[in-house]
Amino acid sequence: MKKLLLPLLLISGTAFGQTKLRPEIDKKAAAIEDKVIEWRRDIHQNPELGNNEVRTAKKVADHLRALGIEVQEGVAVTGVVGILKGGKPGPTVALRADMDALPVSERADLPFKSTVTATYNGQETGVMHACGHDTHVAILMGVAEVLAGMKNELQGTVKFLFQPAEEGIYQEGVTSWGAKQMVEEGVMKDVDAVFGLHIGSQMEVGKIGYRSGPAMAGVDNLEITVHGTQAHGASPWSGVDPIVTSAQIVSGLQTIISRNVNITQTPAVVTVGAIHGGIRHNIIPEKVEMIGTIRTFGDDQQNLVHRRITEIATNIAESAGGKADVNITKLYPSTINDPALTQQMAPTILAAAGEGNVIINELITGAEDFSFFQREKPGLFISLGGMKKGGEPTKTPSHHTPDFYIDEGGFVLGVRVMSYFVVDYMGTKK
Ligand SMILES: [Zn+2]
Ligand SMILES: [Zn+2]
Repeated sequence: MKKLLLPLLLISGTAFGQTKLRPEIDKKAAAIEDKVIEWRRDIHQNPELGNNEVRTAKKVADHLRALGIEVQEGVAVTGVVGILKGGKPGPTVALRADMDALPVSERADLPFKSTVTATYNGQETGVMHACGHDTHVAILMGVAEVLAGMKNELQGTVKFLFQPAEEGIYQEGVTSWGAKQMVEEGVMKDVDAVFGLHIGSQMEVGKIGYRSGPAMAGVDNLEITVHGTQAHGASPWSGVDPIVTSAQIVSGLQTIISRNVNITQTPAVVTVGAIHGGIRHNIIPEKVEMIGTIRTFGDDQQNLVHRRITEIATNIAESAGGKADVNITKLYPSTINDPALTQQMAPTILAAAGEGNVIINELITGAEDFSFFQREKPGLFISLGGMKKGGEPTKTPSHHTPDFYIDEGGFVLGVRVMSYFVVDYMGTKK
């Protein structure tokens, strides 16, 4: 047995202590597929917006408790933390699933389609798992069941993080995310490494994608107010025109990407999404307000872009005799996969997905609040295929849209790879 096992382990590239548990994981994950699908459909049909995931949280907590896992509820409002202590000492590995749905009305014709409605920002709206977080919850519930069933063999502790509000809470005076709040409540203190996945509606079932280092963008909101001096539109020389100044600022901001960012390393985005100023064709207004979004990859680039925005806006306004107030609000940090952890886990991903099914992701200018966990401890965030086999990505509805659809055939791979992460990491950690 030993003689046989060693060459196999070397072939897979990971001669780790606990890779021997993989066949057992495969068996248990396959056996649980129907249950994972059933949980997912139930959660899909009963979606809840950020910080309102009461029913979902209860379902998770009840499930974990039934497995003999220690449960904490009400973490970061509606979050659930499960702690599974293995039979042997070792590191603590955190696995994360986000639970929140979105204010989107589902259009897809499914037997488990959501008909839930809610009030969001004062508007009546449908509620839908239009980002696939229902699948993340169901997959992690499956992982909990698989690992609880082999608890005595585990060399360490598994910490399950079922977090609320990944999509953020944007209310008067409050801007926050479930992961940020969970970190503030101390969930990462005893964790050695954290893993998470995101289902992808435009990536084929059976595939896993990942990327070392910066993988998803950091997102910041931009607000610029340009103050001028009001004047008659017929005599601009008697005032300071904030509209002309704003036009120069918008053009100036575009030079940050073309002239300041090292485009051989990582791209960045500065978008002005709205400009408001003026009321009549012959009145030069007193001020113009513009808002936009900034996407960067990593702290250095973020600092550079922020500094240049402020310099360009304030100096252009000053040169016109006016003034610009720049206000940048940091939202999500960049999702950065720890390079050493990513390298260590690459063979694990290959072992789970199989040859030909691993994709090195392109940079994504969208964001994920998983980044808050990664700022605390080394973390790896992967994408899991959720598009039906043979589908055409460009013709498949994207996330956050009413026709968003996930093929259920990839869930078992999700359960397997997350479980592999745990046992492989535990096996290598000294
Ligand atoms: Zn989303
Ligand atoms: Zn999402």
